[in-house]
Amino acid sequence: MCGIVGYVGKRECADVLVDGLKRLEYRGYDSSGIAVFQNGKIAVEKSKGKLVDLESKMEKQGKPQGHCGIGHTRWATHGEPSDINSHPHGNKRVTIVHNGIIENYRQIKEFLIGQGYGFESETDTETVAKLLDYFYSGDPIETISKMIDKVNGSYALGILFRDFPDTVFAVRKESPLIIGLGEGENFIASDVTPILKYTKNYYLLEYNEIAVIKEDSVTICTPEGKEIHKEVHTADWDVDAAEKGGYEHFMLKEINEQPVAIKTTIAPRIQEGMPYLEESGLTMEMLKNYRRIFVVACGTAMHAGLVGKYVIEKLARVEVTVDIASEFRYRDPLIEKEDLVILISQSGETADTYAALKMAKERGADTLGIVNVKGSTIARESDIVIYTHAGPEISVASTKAYSVQLSIMYLLAFELAYAKGAISKERCMELTKQLADIPEKLNEVLGIKERCQFIASRLVNAESLLYIGRGLDYALSMEGSLKLKEISYIHSESYAAGELKHGTISLVTEDMPVIAVATQSNLLEKTISNVKEVKARGAKVNVICTEDVEIGKDVANHLIKIPKMEDLLMPLLAAVPMQYIAYYTAVLKGCDVDQPRNLAKSVTVE
Ligand code: GLU
Repeated sequence: MCGIVGYVGKRECADVLVDGLKRLEYRGYDSSGIAVFQNGKIAVEKSKGKLVDLESKMEKQGKPQGHCGIGHTRWATHGEPSDINSHPHGNKRVTIVHNGIIENYRQIKEFLIGQGYGFESETDTETVAKLLDYFYSGDPIETISKMIDKVNGSYALGILFRDFPDTVFAVRKESPLIIGLGEGENFIASDVTPILKYTKNYYLLEYNEIAVIKEDSVTICTPEGKEIHKEVHTADWDVDAAEKGGYEHFMLKEINEQPVAIKTTIAPRIQEGMPYLEESGLTMEMLKNYRRIFVVACGTAMHAGLVGKYVIEKLARVEVTVDIASEFRYRDPLIEKEDLVILISQSGETADTYAALKMAKERGADTLGIVNVKGSTIARESDIVIYTHAGPEISVASTKAYSVQLSIMYLLAFELAYAKGAISKERCMELTKQLADIPEKLNEVLGIKERCQFIASRLVNAESLLYIGRGLDYALSMEGSLKLKEISYIHSESYAAGELKHGTISLVTEDMPVIAVATQSNLLEKTISNVKEVKARGAKVNVICTEDVEIGKDVANHLIKIPKMEDLLMPLLAAVPMQYIAYYTAVLKGCDVDQPRNLAKSVTVE
C-alpha cells in the first residue's frame, strides 16, 4: 500500500523522486509529497490527489532543488486525504515519510502534547516524526532506536535529519522497503520498480535494521548500532517488463502475458513429465504425510485457492479448507502439526495473509507461500516458498498472477495426489502434460477478444449482474464477478447455479444480465437448466462454454466458446473471457482500469 522513494546522488532529487513514485502508482494512493535538502534546509512539497497535482503545484511554487530527499504516495488510514495529512511530516529538524500504521499513536501523541508538542495533521505518522524529534540527541541511530522501542505497529520509514544533509535514514517493520545500490547514488523504495532505471542491485531491509544511505555508501546496523553485512540481491525484472509495452492499459498487457507467465512458472517445475516441487523444499514424503490442507488468502488469490480446493479434493482425496485471511486469523482455526497451510499472495506483503502465516507457524503446521515478489515478507517467512514467475503485475486488478497461482495449485494437486497414491504415475503424467499444453491453448483463447468486447457492450449499462456456475465453474465465476466489480464499479454477484432457486432468483429481471459459466461437461445439463430458469425470468444470458457444446438461441442470448480440455483444467482457459469482459466493460464505462478507485495493489494494512 502506498509508496516510498528516497534518493542521494548527483541527479536532481525531486525529479528522481517523482519519477520513482510514478512507478509505484499501481500500489494505489490518494496524495503525495516530497522532502528535499535545499541549501542545508529540508524543503517540503505535498498535495492531495495524483502525482500530476503535486507536479503542477511544484511548477507554480518552484520545485525544491537538491540531491538528497524522500518521497511518498499516501493511502490514507488515519485522517482523510488532504494536503495537511499528506506526507512528509515533521518539523525543521526531522522529516519523515511513512508507510504502515502506528497502533499506539494516541498514547504517543498524548505524551508528546504533554511535552509541549503541537500537531497539525490527523495522521498517526506525525506522532513518529515528533517522537524522533523528542528523542533527538545528535546521534540518528540512537534516536531511531529509541523511537523503535516506543512504537507499535507497522512501518517503513524514510527519515531526514536537518543536521545530516546528505543522508537518508531508513527503518522498517512489516511494511516493505528495499535499498537500491547505484554507482555514486543510492536509493530507498517500497519495491524494485523505481530503481530499475538506475540499478538492479539492492539490499532487503529486515525488521528494525537501520539503514544510513549516502551518495557513496550504504551502512546497515542493528538498533544497538552494530554493523550488519548484507547480501546484494539482483532484480531479474527489467524496466520494459514494468512498462505498458504498447498496450492501452497494464491490465490488457497482463491478460495477454498469461501464456508466457504460466510457461515460465511451470516449466522449471516439471521434470521427466512429472511435477517437481522438491526444489522449493516440498518433498514427496512431506506431501504423503499431510493430513489436511488450509489455503489462506485474500481477494483473487483466495479464488485461486478455491479452484485448488476442488482440484486437490477431487484428485488427492485430501480435505482442503479455503479461508479469507482476515477471517482465518480471528476464528481460532483447528490447525494441527500434521496440516499444511498454504498462503497465496501476489505481493507477498498482504497483511492479513501474513498474520495467518504467523499463526499457522505458532501452531506448528508447515507453511507454504505461493508468492510472486521475490524476497517479500511471506516468501521469507514461510517454511516453503514456491515463486510464481508472473513478472511485475502493475494493474491493481489481478489477472496473470491469478493464472500462475492456479498453475501452481494444479501442479501441487497432481503431485499430492500421486504422493498419496490416489492417482497412478501415468495419470499424473497425463495431467501434467495437459497443464503444459495450457499456454498454447491460451493463445487461442486470447483471440476471442472481439467477442468479449461485444458482450461488454451489452453489459455496460447494467446496474447489477449475476454470475452463475457449478463446481469449478462456480469457483471461477467468483473471480469473474470480482474482476467486473473492482474495475467497472457495476455490482455483481456470483452464485452457485443450483442455489438460485433458494432465494436469489427473485432478483432476476430483464434488467439483470447473467453470465453463466458452463465448462464442466458432467454438470452441463444441470447448468443449462439453471440458464433456462433465468432466461424464463427475462434475463439476457451469456454462456461461456466449450466449443463442442451446442446451445440454442432459445436457451441463451450469446455464447462465448473456448477450446475444450479436461474439465479439471478448464478454469485456466475460462478465466480469460471473464477478464476480457470485465476489462472492456470498464473501458467502455471510461473507468480508470489500472487504478480503480479506493483500491490498492498491495494491501499491507489490516
Ligand atoms: N498511516 C499513515 C497515514 O494515514 C500512512 C498510510 C500509508 O501507508 O500511506 O498517513
